[in-house]
Amino acid sequence: MIGLETHVQITALKSKLFCGCDADYRGKEPNTNVCPVCVGLPGSLPVLNARSLELATTLALALECKINPRQFFFRKNYFYPDMACNFQISQYDKAGGVPFASGGTVVFKSGKDTYTVNLSRIHLENDPGKLVHQGSITTSPFTLVDYNRHGIALVEIVTKPDLRSPEQARDYLNTLRNIIEHCGVADLSLDGSGRTDANISMKVEGREGGRVEVKNINSFKDVEKAIQFEIIRQRQILKSGGDVPQETRHWTGKNTVSLRVKETEEDYRYFPEPDLVPIEIPDKLVGRMKKAMPELPRARAQRFKQQYNLSDYDSEVLVSTKSNADFFEETAKINTNYKDIANWMMGDILRRLNERDISIRETKLKPKTLADMIDAINTNTITGKVAKDFVPKLLDGESLPKLIKGIEQKGGIIKDPVTLELFVADAIKANPQIVQDYRTNPKALQALIGAVMKLTEKRADPALTRDLLKKHLDQK
Ligand code: ZN
Ligand code: MN
Repeated sequence: MIGLETHVQITALKSKLFCGCDADYRGKEPNTNVCPVCVGLPGSLPVLNARSLELATTLALALECKINPRQFFFRKNYFYPDMACNFQISQYDKAGGVPFASGGTVVFKSGKDTYTVNLSRIHLENDPGKLVHQGSITTSPFTLVDYNRHGIALVEIVTKPDLRSPEQARDYLNTLRNIIEHCGVADLSLDGSGRTDANISMKVEGREGGRVEVKNINSFKDVEKAIQFEIIRQRQILKSGGDVPQETRHWTGKNTVSLRVKETEEDYRYFPEPDLVPIEIPDKLVGRMKKAMPELPRARAQRFKQQYNLSDYDSEVLVSTKSNADFFEETAKINTNYKDIANWMMGDILRRLNERDISIRETKLKPKTLADMIDAINTNTITGKVAKDFVPKLLDGESLPKLIKGIEQKGGIIKDPVTLELFVADAIKANPQIVQDYRTNPKALQALIGAVMKLTEKRADPALTRDLLKKHLDQK
């Protein structure tokens, strides 16, 4: 059984959760983005960021949670150098407390199936500072601390233990990320803006292990790996008759290591935060945020189907990340060959992006360039094969006109049957084995088209090549 607690920085905020320090702490000199309030100096008093309530409301609505109209903050006490004041200002669902919002669901696809994860709550709290180690946490001779991040607004999203596999965890998180980005609450491409703790408990051949919490998995991508590792580790222990104790572990990027035997909730000595007044979330605020709610992924995929005449599958894949969906729509404003745009984005472009592990926004490709490339193919200025080769260069910002010029300098696309016939004849002569194969397997034609493309430096008109090849082969 897997449950996830995901801390998301509300990066849409301009300042921290309880003080006026800049919310954009990244890249700053260590310990310069701080004030007496966020590091908790004696006599300083926190003041809640009003905009954080609006954005948390937006997120709660998008996740279908029930927003608690009256709530207050708690102190969660713990003694650790990343927390300068020895307590975190958080919310609590016991001792008369309620979280920001309760319940909620996320519907996600994993493989061919659709699942629903139930959320137990979402709550607001401040981010701790950052501990910096040389090399890894286990071998570093020292720990440095940087409080620039201390006090950044977080919303913690806690699921019930509804997930059953590392893949489901990954797919849930990707869906969650997509909803959060569509809401405009956070930009999760920022390093460390989405951090997950994974709770994993296993039962193997009737033997039950304790609940293991893997802390602070710093990227969504690593969650799947960390859970995979834990499942293997726990299964081996349980199978060999050992015990899996309840504990907190740390993900190193390769494996998990024990941090401490898990503290219990009592250890945190939760009590109401006396420096902050209770909060009311008026219906008016909820109504206003509901009205201003941006289009969410599910509605957007539905609209893609209708507006661009795309299949269910295409719409879902394109809308599965906000950056791809935005890029598609910007391209579709310039070029109305929607299906072509979808095919290029979901085929060669997506494949290259996956290879490089980046999003389309992180490349230099512009919607206009993709639109122009599709036009160039459709007007027979370049072949699809050439365009395929272009893709990596276009992602790196090479200009399309320059690439087209290069093709033209070589003589452009060969559309003249007499010239092309020479290449076709050469290809047939050079590949007797493929010609042989073609007699029993017509699919071998593809390999011969490839041979012609090679001879012509990919300048052969593909349809004409196919016709000429068939004509030659079927004669014999
Ligand atoms: Zn501050
Ligand atoms: Mn937390």
